[in-house]
Amino acid sequence: MDHLMGKFKASRTILREALGILRGKGMIDAKPSVGTWVTENRDWRILDPDILSWRADGADGAAQAHDLAELGQAIDVEAARLAAVRGTDSTFTALQQALMCTRHRNAPQVNAPPTLQPSADRAFHRALFEGSGNQFFVYIGNLVASHFDPGRFCYGSARHHELLLYALQRRDAKAAGEVATHLHIEDPRMKNDDLPA
Ligand SMILES: [Zn+2]
Repeated sequence: MDHLMGKFKASRTILREALGILRGKGMIDAKPSVGTWVTENRDWRILDPDILSWRADGADGAAQAHDLAELGQAIDVEAARLAAVRGTDSTFTALQQALMCTRHRNAPQVNAPPTLQPSADRAFHRALFEGSGNQFFVYIGNLVASHFDPGRFCYGSARHHELLLYALQRRDAKAAGEVATHLHIEDPRMKNDDLPA
């Protein structure tokens, strides 16, 4: 404790408070007469918003971004299947409104595929999670989306998001789940011809 107080120039009270916070997040553990130590990160509360932010700026930021992208994709797929059954008119309206905010990634190259604005993308997925009717998908999905950096992984193709809305409006759960797999992963099999006129 004295070593840490000297290193961080912090009072004993402040240091105790900080260690208590880290212990609450599972990042350190302590035993009387043994001491305090950093735990394996599999014991960390890795969905804690602070830990998500700290890791994003740390050495394993890229690994976390990749894991979050996979988790986000898994939630998207299941939420899409459920939203095809449970989605309401307000779900579809919210998705449609989000789709109106597209941009061209490599403007002024007119041939670049349009992508969703980051804020519109978050709004789109929020509406999708809510359309699933599953409160855990809403909570975890929004948490993941708020820490997901599409620029680091893959921008959301506006075309794929639009295809998902069409599948949901057709109440086609199978197609919705299939399209949701590719929202943030480029898939050359998806062509412009897939879009309805
Ligand atoms: Zn998206």
